Amino acid sequence: MKIDTPAPNFFTSVKLENSLDPTPLKQLRAWFDDCNSGHEKCSALQKDVVLPTRVLDLGAMPETNVLNDRMHEWQDLFLQSECKLVETTTGQLGKYATLSYCWGTGLPFMTTKETLSTRKTGIGFQSLPKTLQDAAMVARYLGLQYIWIDCLAIGMDLNLRFWCIY
Ligand SMILES: [Zn+2]
Repeated sequence: MKIDTPAPNFFTSVKLENSLDPTPLKQLRAWFDDCNSGHEKCSALQKDVVLPTRVLDLGAMPETNVLNDRMHEWQDLFLQSECKLVETTTGQLGKYATLSYCWGTGLPFMTTKETLSTRKTGIGFQSLPKTLQDAAMVARYLGLQYIWIDCLAIGMDLNLRFWCIY
């Protein structure tokens, strides 16, 4: 089986049989809610902030209450859903998660000039690499509409071989 994430090289003692398993996510959501409702300092961090220029919009993915009602169908619900890359307007406010990770030796699932317009139309959950699927799923279950992912938000020009944000 092809492994498209370098994480197992670093976390050899942690093994999740299925990352679409809702049990650990429900615990995470409970901690997140405790922070928001019971901790003064944590809840102060929950205000809307100015969104980055490009974020992944998870708004079309199943919401927390839907997932809670249909726990045994989580996998299908996510696999049938899609998200899209959005370019925010200046000063647009919202809540978002971030994912910056080691891309390993292969090329990441990045945005280029060629892929930008299709990514803005929609990205099937199934076509995301596993690491990005997991991140999007966690963010969505925590009730966040947006996630910023470095390889998706930063454009890379393969011909010029340098990083650029365009
Ligand atoms: Zn807290």
